[in-house]
Amino acid sequence: RELHVNLGENSYDILFGSGLLKNLPEYIKRVYKGKKLFIITDNNVEKYYREQLETILKDYDFTFYILEAGEKSKTLDNVAKIYKAMINSSLSRDDLVVAFGGGVTGDIAGFAAATYMRGVPFIQIPTTLLSQVDSSVGGKVGVDLVEGKNLVGAFNQPKIVLIDTSVLKTLTDRYFFDGLAEVVKYGCIHDENLFSLLEGLKNREEVMEHIEDILFRSCDIKREVVEEDEKEHGLRMILNFGHTVGHGLEQYYNYEKYTHGEAVSLGMIEILETGEREGITEKGTLERTKKLLMQLNLPVEDKYNREDVIKIMKRDKKNKKGEVNFVMIEKIGKHKIVKIKEEKMYDFLYKNR
Ligand code: NAD
Ligand code: ZN
Repeated sequence: RELHVNLGENSYDILFGSGLLKNLPEYIKRVYKGKKLFIITDNNVEKYYREQLETILKDYDFTFYILEAGEKSKTLDNVAKIYKAMINSSLSRDDLVVAFGGGVTGDIAGFAAATYMRGVPFIQIPTTLLSQVDSSVGGKVGVDLVEGKNLVGAFNQPKIVLIDTSVLKTLTDRYFFDGLAEVVKYGCIHDENLFSLLEGLKNREEVMEHIEDILFRSCDIKREVVEEDEKEHGLRMILNFGHTVGHGLEQYYNYEKYTHGEAVSLGMIEILETGEREGITEKGTLERTKKLLMQLNLPVEDKYNREDVIKIMKRDKKNKKGEVNFVMIEKIGKHKIVKIKEEKMYDFLYKNR
């Protein structure tokens, strides 16, 4: 199956399938006629897939760059190291960067590709569920600063996104369910059917039976939103449902306690609680979502220091003129943006709790 993301000269295809990697050269040839590849991955993914890739890509002149797995690798220091390695392998603007890994790999590889020599083309081969449903599509690339997540970045669309569902087999349960938090997000903001589909799936095996459908529908929502608002001037904001608090929590715990999806799960719950209390969200939505998230082994409760997390949220780059846009849910499948002044944020989120 395929989707086409229509962004004028930045348009590209997303290909879905089990075992797609076996025909990698064929798909690469759709967008790149050259022979030199600069492949960025991390040391976990390398362990599982390097041999296979080297065999499949035997006719290419490839260089591997291996990141240490984890969010802490998404830094400018590592970007500088990647540039060095690119120079050492004489990478030019006619060559191709391949991001082969999860969201961390995709974000940093896409950023290095956007900026090395003012831009080298790149492709995304996402290997986590999260990167397959979300981060590999849409062209947001970047790195974290100590001051906050994703504070440096660019819009850089890939030339193609290749989604091979068979690589999900090697994911740990934790990262498998992590990615489903973003699918719940899509369901909440835009697609009640997708939400209901997930509700009917009791375990990883059952999710895998429907995985192509889940990935396709998730990417299709992302496609629609990104086509409408590539550079996030408006609509694209809805993809941040659960992320304002989620990003706050990730940082508050120094990226150690929660994965991205887990933090987003908690973030969605906080906003739904607020929404029901404020009469914005239809009653019962919180319970229904909580039940689904629990069924997907995602966290729904955490006793963090609220003042501290609010402080972190105030530094979010998306805040404008001291205001924060909260993505709220009226009912499953329908979002609503609510602007809150930074100084009102604490009460808005936590009043009477
Ligand atoms: P990740 O890249 O760290 O991957 C998670 C873990 O899974 C890592 O340990 C990795 O080594 C391992 N892994 C990856 N593929 C595997 C496989 N097939 N088999 C076994 N293990 C595998 O993290 P992630 O959860 O994929 O992505 C999170 C990042 O994505 C965050 O930095 C977040 O900010 C970013 N993100 C970006 C966007 C965007 O639009 N650019 C959207 C959402 C999230
Ligand atoms: Zn996310």
